[in-house]
Amino acid sequence: MKPIGPIPPEFVGQSGMLTIGGERADALVTAHGSPLFVYDLAIVAARIARFRAAMPAAVALHYAVKANPHPAVIAGIAHLVEGLDVASVGELAKALAVKPAHAISFAGPGKRDAELEAAIVAGATLNAESAGEVRRALATGERLGIAPRLAVRVNPDLELRGSGMKMGGRASPFGVDAERVPELVRTIVGAGADWRGFHIFAGSQALDAGALVETQAATLTLAARLADESGHVPSKVNLGGGFGIPHFAGDRALDVERIGAALGEALAASALTAAGTTYAIELGRWLVGEAGVYLTRVVDRKESRGETFVVVDGGLHHQLAASGNFGTVVRRNYPVAVAGRMGEPGDGEASVVGCLCTPLDRLADRVALPPADEGDLVAVFIAGAYGLSASPAAFLGHPVPAEVVLGSRTVIPAEAGIQNR
Ligand SMILES: *Cc1c(COP(=O)(O)O)cnc(C)c1O
Repeated sequence: MKPIGPIPPEFVGQSGMLTIGGERADALVTAHGSPLFVYDLAIVAARIARFRAAMPAAVALHYAVKANPHPAVIAGIAHLVEGLDVASVGELAKALAVKPAHAISFAGPGKRDAELEAAIVAGATLNAESAGEVRRALATGERLGIAPRLAVRVNPDLELRGSGMKMGGRASPFGVDAERVPELVRTIVGAGADWRGFHIFAGSQALDAGALVETQAATLTLAARLADESGHVPSKVNLGGGFGIPHFAGDRALDVERIGAALGEALAASALTAAGTTYAIELGRWLVGEAGVYLTRVVDRKESRGETFVVVDGGLHHQLAASGNFGTVVRRNYPVAVAGRMGEPGDGEASVVGCLCTPLDRLADRVALPPADEGDLVAVFIAGAYGLSASPAAFLGHPVPAEVVLGSRTVIPAEAGIQNR
């Protein structure tokens, strides 16, 4: 028997049929089909409210759109945050539909000239990932007669301890090495571009508040040093994000209140604050991850050489991360449940496997589950971030599932499919 990760707080304590945003899982599937992604914007709003209560008021909150690019999710979040961070021209277009350009920043390596042009014409901020990109952005701005809004993404000489994904302190395709930043800032300012400050992202998926406190303090110190060395005060410093959520057994939720208290002190003590710099934190998974549930119907239940397999109509083509194939070294179980039997203890060990013809397609490995038979629904939690858009939906040619956004102000037909998202 292997453990599962913790079920997000909103679903703990339920019994009988799982409800999401007050709606029964079986009714949602009857209405929209199986498999199905359900996102509850009320959970996202609760995370944002917690962030606001915990963080210094001076820190703006940005949503990193790549975590969940569903248009109704972006629209639902846009009016609750100060900024949207995008990383492609497709995400830029979606962001522009719901937020003014000055509140949008565009990061990501390998921005093509057409992407630079789209951002410059719209008036979004480009988070430059290299000196070459700055050169091309300045040339594009010159050609168009528009001063580009340019921030410099810094490859910091520090890294986020305990981070699932480390992005600092080493050679990196992301950002400009810290030691080369001052000269680049002088180039940008000298060319007459609108320099928007620094973007410093040191890592992702951290659950250790102490590590985030340390990283944020070091990020502030680095920003102040780069400002000194370049001779220009940044109007804004994007301190990155990195707030993680529990996925696996033993993971503990992040103590954001502790981070907020420490950040408040660090900001108050920073010379940049006194000089008028403003700050932002950009979050993806912490805002939306726990708000999503993937529902998939049991097609078959079989025994093989002493093991039980619950075979469902979904799989890794929709929810790659739960199969352990999206950036994890050791496969561990996401929280899962039999949707009609919430709160019931397991009566035996079973593996939940998807319908793809590959042994990689395992949504839960040897877990304790209450009985699940043909027609029952399995819920895979934490499906709100890096779910459908981060999965190989075309692999094996099954239909693209619907996505339902509960509490949405915009209605987008789920049948539109992933291509139109
Ligand atoms: C992906 C990304 C994020 C969001 O990361 P999460 O772990 O989902 O919070 C934030 N900033 C940058 C630069 C990113 O690339």
